[in-house]
Order: sequence, then C-alpha cells, then structure tokens
Amino acid sequence: MEAAQRRRLSVIASHLRPITITPTSPISRSDCNSCSDSEKQCNLETDCIFCKIIRGDAPALKLYEDDECLCFLDNNPVSPGHCLIIPRCHFPSLVATPPSVVAAMCSKVPYISKAVMKATGSDSFNLLVNNGVDAGQVIFHTHIHIIPRRARDCLWASESLKRHPLKLDQEALHLVNNIRQQLSFVEGFEDSKDHGTTLIGS
Ligand code: 5GP
Ligand code: ZN
Repeated sequence: MEAAQRRRLSVIASHLRPITITPTSPISRSDCNSCSDSEKQCNLETDCIFCKIIRGDAPALKLYEDDECLCFLDNNPVSPGHCLIIPRCHFPSLVATPPSVVAAMCSKVPYISKAVMKATGSDSFNLLVNNGVDAGQVIFHTHIHIIPRRARDCLWASESLKRHPLKLDQEALHLVNNIRQQLSFVEGFEDSKDHGTTLIGS
C-alpha cells in the first residue's frame, strides 16, 4: 500500500478509534500536501521529537490527523486538553514555515478547538506560538498550542503582563515605518509595499 493510501486509512481509523496511544502512522519524505511543488521535498529530522511522532517512532495521544497536520495532547499540559497542531514536514519555527503550511495548520484551529472546548467543558482557549528561544520555544518543529481556559484559572497572571499605552509619537511612527520597510523586502506580499505612514485618526 502506498504511503498516501496508508495515511488516508490511518486518518479514517483515527476518527473511528477515539484514543490512540500507539505511535502515529509513518509517512514518506515527499508527500506533504500543504507544501507547494517547490517545497514538496518534505524533510523529517532524525533528532526531532515531533518528527519521531510523525514517523511513528515516538508515542503521542493523537487527537486528529490529515494529509497536512497532526494534533496531539501536549505531554506536559498547562491545562486539560492542551494540545499541539504540527505540520507533517519539519520546519524549525513559525517564521521558517511556508505560508501554505501555516495556513493549513491555522485552518484546523476552529475545528479542533471547538472539539477540545466541548470535551473539556471550557468555552475559551488561548492560541499560542512560541517563536524562538527568547519567546520560550523549546521544540524546534513549528507548532501551535491550543490551551483551553476556565474562569479564574489564573494561567497567566495579569500582573505579569505589564502594558503601557501606545503613544502616537515619533518613536511609534519610526517603528511603523521600520516594520513596513522590512515588510517591503519580503517577497510575495505585494499588499505590504509602500503605503507611507501617517497617524490614523489624528
Ligand atoms: P514550545 O515551548 O516549544 O512552544 O512548546 C513545546 C511543547 O511541546 C511543550 O508544551 C511540551 O510540553 C511539549 N512536548 C515536548 N516534548 C513532547 C513530547 O515528546 N510529546 C508531546 N506530546 N509533547 C511534547
Ligand atoms: Zn521535526
């Protein structure tokens, strides 16, 4: 049986078997459906724990899988139902992930989060991406956290998130211009080019 067929079978099976502690089904290196043709060569890293889960070499409590993504419970959750959506290809961080793959991951969020909220009896969740060491990323295979929340669960104490109202001053203007200039260097995003900066609403 071909890898694609094997995986399709395992997708169907994952809906029939609600709990899977056994390893996920392995995939071949070249059949990531969310990668464009030029990115088609899907590389899995030998030492990456999430690649091991994808290959079926490490166990995971799998919630969902399709041709593009996998979702499983975090093994060190901050709340019950905390789960991770990962692409089937290895990209070290969100910024290194092709937009098509990010889109594929994000498109699963409403579907999976609704199910997780229903199952955990919550009606809120946080979507979290840690991109880079300083942001707390520890697994360098891009992933999105879905973290169910409850009233007064105090997961993120508000006092740790000190905020300062944005001042509409020269410094802010300089920052906006700087970011827009950086955006204009990014290929493939025509929308971002040279809109000039003025203070909206001033
Ligand atoms: P990061 O800080 O990189 O965004 O978060 C990585 C997440 O992956 C952490 O929440 C951590 O608990 C989870 N994690 C690390 N290793 C494993 C593993 O082997 N299995 C599962 N299911 N989750 C893992
Ligand atoms: Zn990986």
